[in-house]
Parts: sequence; C-alpha cells; structure tokens
Amino acid sequence: VIKPSSAAQVQQVMKIIRVTSSKFAIRSGGHNPNCGWGSIGSEGVLIDLSRLDHIQPRLDALSINVGPGRRWIDVYKALDGTGRTVLGGRTPDVGVGGLLLGGGIPSFSSEFGFACDHVSSYEVVLANGTMVKADKNVHEDLWWALKGGGSNFGRS
Ligand SMILES: Cc1cc2nc3c(=O)[nH]c(=O)nc-3n(C[C@H](O)[C@H](O)[C@H](O)COP(=O)(O)OP(=O)(O)OC[C@H]3O[C@@H](n4cnc5c(N)ncnc54)[C@H](O)[C@@H]3O)c2cc1C
Repeated sequence: VIKPSSAAQVQQVMKIIRVTSSKFAIRSGGHNPNCGWGSIGSEGVLIDLSRLDHIQPRLDALSINVGPGRRWIDVYKALDGTGRTVLGGRTPDVGVGGLLLGGGIPSFSSEFGFACDHVSSYEVVLANGTMVKADKNVHEDLWWALKGGGSNFGRS
C-alpha cells in the first residue's frame, strides 16, 4: 500500500508501476472495497490517496480546490459559515475522488444535476506519470470524459 502525499509522488508511483508492469488499484475514500477497484490483493499495489487531503477555497470564493482523498463531510465543514457549499455526497463519509468520477448524486440533484457537472478542472496524473490539467479549454475531451466516466480515463 502506497500513500502519496503530493501529486508529484503520485507521478513517481505511476512511473515505477509502468516500469514494473505491476497491477494496481486506486483508493480515495474507500467506499468501493471490491478487489481491483478500491483495493487489491497481494499481487498488486494499492495507491491510497487519503493524504491528498487539501481543501483550499479559491480567491474568487466561487470554487474550491479539494484533494481526492477527502471525505465530503470535511468539505462541508470547511465551508460552514461561509454561506456557500458544494454539491457532494449525501452520505458524509463517501470520498471526493470516487464520487466525482462516478458522477455523484447530491441532495439537490433535481435542481443542480450531478456533482461532476460542477467540476471546473481536474489535475490528472496520466498512466505514464506526466501530470495534466483538464478543463474546458485544455484537454477538454478528458475533462468531459472524467465527468462520470469512472477511472477508465487518463491513459497517456
Ligand atoms: C453508504 C454509501 C453511501 C453513498 N452515498 C452516495 C451519495 O449520496 N451520492 C452518490 O453519488 N454516491 C453515493 N455512494 C456511492 C459512492 O459515490 C461510490 O461508491 C464512490 O465510488 C465512492 O467513492 P470513494 O472515493 O469513497 O471510493 P473508492 O473505493 O476509493 O473509489 C471508488 C472507485 O473510484 C476509483 N477512484 C477513486 N478515486 C480515484 C482517483 N483519484 N483516480 C482514479 N480512480 C479513482 C477507485 O479505484 C474505485 O474504483 C454511496 C456509497 C455508499 C457505500
């Protein structure tokens, strides 16, 4: 089990996994424990993203930068008292990473749609270890695919 604490460390891990052709799985909040999804047996490497846990409201106060390893309750608490919130999980301890990659059904979905509809940009470590930003202007096809596409995208 590897617990990187920065995107740069995730890049290093992906480069090693590529060289060794190792099987691997990725975990954010760990709500999907199926082997090969959010966990893996002794034959592979589990990349646990729980240390990618930053919560940084942006200067425009209209968006927030959140690490995938956070759970939604932490994000809601961080915004408490600001008069703003985010569209995340209805269950507080679901992880940010898995929910957003799967679409994400928030409490106010009938009014605002899926949680992923409101993601303005992603930082993505590709399979070859390079990191890209995907938003509506750069790598826009990846930005589109990640909105509910699961963890199948981000190959180099
Ligand atoms: C009790 C419970 C309540 C729930 N409530 C809601 C709800 O209200 N709304 C809703 O929409 N969903 C809900 N879900 C479903 C939940 O959103 C999914 O199970 C989601 O995948 C959990 O994300 P996670 O990060 O906790 O899980 P994980 O097991 O860590 O990840 C789930 C999948 O996404 C992949 N993944 C996670 N992070 C990354 C990443 N950074 N990069 C690449 N792949 C990644 C993992 O490999 C795994 O395949 C609930 C689930 C449970 C068990």
